[in-house]
Amino acid sequence: MGKPAGVRCIQLNADNLCMIFGQPERPDVCAEFSASIDVCGTTNEQALWLITDLESSTC
Ligand code: SF4
Repeated sequence: MGKPAGVRCIQLNADNLCMIFGQPERPDVCAEFSASIDVCGTTNEQALWLITDLESSTC
């Protein structure tokens, strides 16, 4: 149903894994996203920095 940018998805578990992965209720935007190094980096810290930078650059 959508959420504000910067808010953690309620479907993430404590290990940062999607709890509805592979299920039909998973949003299309998630299913169609392909991870890439320039968006995700190589660590959780890099991913958070990159997504924050993308968000601030496009808001
Ligand atoms: S893949 Fe989509 S639904 Fe799953 S945790 Fe990430 S943002 Fe949430």
